[in-house]
Parts: sequence; C-alpha cells; structure tokens
Amino acid sequence: MTFPISDATPIRFAGLLPAACDVVVIGGGVIGVMTAWHLAERGLRVVLCEKGRIAGEQSSRNWGWVRQQGRDLDELPIMVEALRHWKALAQEFGEALGFRQEGVMYMAKTEAEMAGFEAWLAHAKAHGLDTRMMTPGDVAGKISGAEKGWKGGLFTPSDARAEPWAAVPLLAQGAVARGAVIVEGCAVRRLDLAAGKVAGVITEQGSIACDQVVLAGGSWSALFARAHGVRLPQLSVKATVMATEPLPEVFAGNAADDDFAFRRRQDGGYSLAPGAAHDFFIGPDAFRHARVYLPVLKKDFRSTRFHPASPSGYPDGWRTPRDWAADEITPFERIRVLNPSPSARIIRDVSKAFAHTFPALGRPRLKAAWAGMIDTMPDVVPVVDRVAHLPGLVIATGMSGHGFGIGPGMGRVVADLVAGQPVGHDLHRFRLARFSDGSKIAPGPSL
Ligand SMILES: Cc1cc2nc3c(=O)[nH]c(=O)nc-3n(C[C@H](O)[C@H](O)[C@H](O)COP(=O)(O)OP(=O)(O)OC[C@H]3O[C@@H](n4cnc5c(N)ncnc54)[C@H](O)[C@@H]3O)c2cc1C
Repeated sequence: MTFPISDATPIRFAGLLPAACDVVVIGGGVIGVMTAWHLAERGLRVVLCEKGRIAGEQSSRNWGWVRQQGRDLDELPIMVEALRHWKALAQEFGEALGFRQEGVMYMAKTEAEMAGFEAWLAHAKAHGLDTRMMTPGDVAGKISGAEKGWKGGLFTPSDARAEPWAAVPLLAQGAVARGAVIVEGCAVRRLDLAAGKVAGVITEQGSIACDQVVLAGGSWSALFARAHGVRLPQLSVKATVMATEPLPEVFAGNAADDDFAFRRRQDGGYSLAPGAAHDFFIGPDAFRHARVYLPVLKKDFRSTRFHPASPSGYPDGWRTPRDWAADEITPFERIRVLNPSPSARIIRDVSKAFAHTFPALGRPRLKAAWAGMIDTMPDVVPVVDRVAHLPGLVIATGMSGHGFGIGPGMGRVVADLVAGQPVGHDLHRFRLARFSDGSKIAPGPSL
C-alpha cells in the first residue's frame, strides 16, 4: 500500500478563487479545515488555500488518537469540547470517519511513571474526566496476551480515535457544504499588506482581498511568518508510523508505553509507532531557537536522533529561502506534500518490541510505513493568537504532536477569535508574546 494522500492524488477541492472574501485560511490540515468550517457556519465568506492536498501532511499521517488523557491543563477544556464535536461529526459522517470511543491506556514500566500518572489523574478529576489508575491486573484485563511486566497504567475510557486520512477530507467536504471555498494546489505566497495591516493574500493563482488571515500552515508556519517579520520559534521532528495487516484484537483502544504505541484500525490492523523516538534535522532555526528549546531538549535528548541537515527544500532546510517576492515560486510550491521517508531503524525496533510483547501474534506483517513532520513549540503547546504588530493576522499552529484530536474544538475557538466573539476558553497560555515578553517557558506534560 502506498500512502493514500500524495502529490499524485487528484485534486478534489478546486474552488474558484474569489477577488475578495472575509477571511483566508492558509493550510488545509485539520486546524485550517475546522476553522473554515466554523467560520462558514458563522456566515463569513471564507477561502481556504492549501498548497498541496487537504490533509496531505500531518493531518493524515498521525496516529488517529483523540485523547484527553495526558493533555496540558490549558488545552484540556478545549479537548473536552473537541470530543463533543467529534461525536456530532460521527453522527453526520457515520462509519467513514472511523470514530470509536474505546479509550486510551498508558502503561508504566516504573514507579516513577506511575507517580506521573497519579499527578495527572488529579487534574483529570478536576475536569470531570473518567480517567482512572489501573493495577497490573486491570491492564491485563484490558490488553490480552501481553507478556510485559507493567507496573500498572492510566486509562480514560471516553477517549477515542478516528481514521485521519479518511476523516479530514470528509471534514473538508463538510466545510464546503457550509459555504467555505477550498482550493487545493494553491500556495499562499505572501500577505498583501496596506498601512501595516492585512489587506489580502497573494497566492500562486492570484490575489484575494480580505482583512483577516488565519495562518494554520503546520510545519511551514514559522517560515511564512518570518517572511513577514513575525518570529515564531517553531521546529519540527520526523515521526515514523506503520500499519500492520489485520491481526486478532488484543485491545480495542489506543495504548502506549515508552517503547511503542498502538491503536486498533478500522481495517483490523494496528497503527504502530515508537513511544518516544523521533528524528530531528538540524537547520538554521534550530540554532536560532536553541535557547528556548533547552528544557524540552533535556527531556527528549535520548529519544531524539539528530541529523546534520534536512532533505532539500524542507521548512528548516539550510538552503530553503527565508524570503521571496510575490511573483516568485516559493518554498511552499516546491514541496506540495511533505512526505519524509520513514526510519528503517524505528520500523525494525517497534516491530520487534510489539512482537516481544504479543508473542502469540508473531512478528507483525506491515502493509505500509510512512513518516510525518510534527511541528512543535518550545513548551509543547500551540500558538493561538492575533499578531499584535500585524493587525488582521491570526496564528493557529504549533499543535505539538496532538492537534488531530483537538482539531474540531480548536477550529471553533479560532473561528470565534477571528469573528471577534467570546472564545469560551482561556487562551493566555497560547499567546505569541510568551516567547518575547520574558515569560518562563513551562513545557506541558508530554504524557
Ligand atoms: C506521526 C504523527 C503522529 C501523530 N499522532 C497524533 C495523534 O494520535 N493525535 C493527535 O491529536 N495528534 C497527533 N499528531 C499531531 C497532529 O497530526 C497535528 O498536530 C495536526 O494534524 C496539525 O494540524 P495542522 O492543521 O496544524 O497542520 P497540518 O496537518 O500539517 O496542515 C498544514 C497544512 O498547511 C499547508 N500549507 C503550509 N503552508 C502553506 C501555504 N503557504 N499556502 C498554502 N498551504 C500551506 C500544508 O501543505 C499542510 O497541508 C501526530 C502527528 C504525526 C506527524
């Protein structure tokens, strides 16, 4: 099986670019799509421009976990809301969304991990979640056939999953049905500015006048922002995932320890991934933002494999242009769909760990393996804010490896932020100024 969304995928969303609209959304991942959805529902004229294909990047490549468990406390209320949206979406789209509430389980190998789970449980209770601690016997009761001496676990039965590469294009159809115009193969090259404010965008297909723009460009957001004088200390890591052929069910939900993560797929196989390991390509932004990343770097150092340079044209590539004119071909057009090659070492290690843990299943036969570039922020929580010195620009990016599940809730929040309506949640933690106003960078839980 080849990865289902690529440069070769026929264009499914070919809206016509209007001369003017109320809001342009840059980026057709789950965040841009759900923002467009909610803006259209509020009666605003919204155009979403996607340089490649809807959900071609992170939003199709992720594990498909829709989880409250282990979230940063300021994200949690938005995630609780997002879960309500997912349930309504499942009513609208049915089985095709792949939405199932079968829970998320974390398994601990050490007492220290159990203590971390206990600490998070207190927050879960405060938010009324159904999360509970699990004894080794409880874990064995849920996950059958595992031969691993887990000390116990943390389980949230109401957590869920969906099938990313099917779900996000369906959500895009829903946004179009509500009045959004979606244009694939349409990179936004630059903002059109007048008197220091957003007056529109210049795309490869022409200009659109508007006075609000939402930047939801995933891993490309910092590159776009920088070309307009906005400093966004965003970096990306490469994460490898694989899909097995159908296997007997050992657990209906999503589960992880620090060796590997797995979740049951709609086709009867599992999506497998490492619990923590990832690859990092060092580029100019890595040096630029090294200081703010020190706290997370210390935590993740052993699970990160460093590489001296990105493949050519990547958002933080050494030779990737940092600025360009509106009539030039930009980095966004040179890579339509960021499609990193999966790590052979990670595929081998994870397959081995899974087979050791579930000997009755044997070595898993893989039908596909892929990778995605996860965009992250130094404190592992997003930026969702207006840019103070560039009126009309709203940033919604840096979902830091957990934007799929929260997407429907975050889209609603961003839409209300743009529409000037109360957003209903405290967005202080997600403000852009935290990286420039001397605030202490406090990484969220990477549970
Ligand atoms: C391997 C992996 C596993 C993950 N697992 C989970 C999980 O289980 N649960 C979870 O909640 N999250 C998970 N995530 C994270 C989640 O996938 C992301 O946080 C989320 O998809 C981000 O959505 P987005 O819309 O911000 O960005 P993206 O999905 O990356 O979309 C951004 C889009 O913007 C487009 N774009 C960029 N610049 C321009 C431009 N100038 N003009 C036009 N278009 C532009 C890009 O082409 C891209 O399609 C995982 C991510 C990966 C990679």
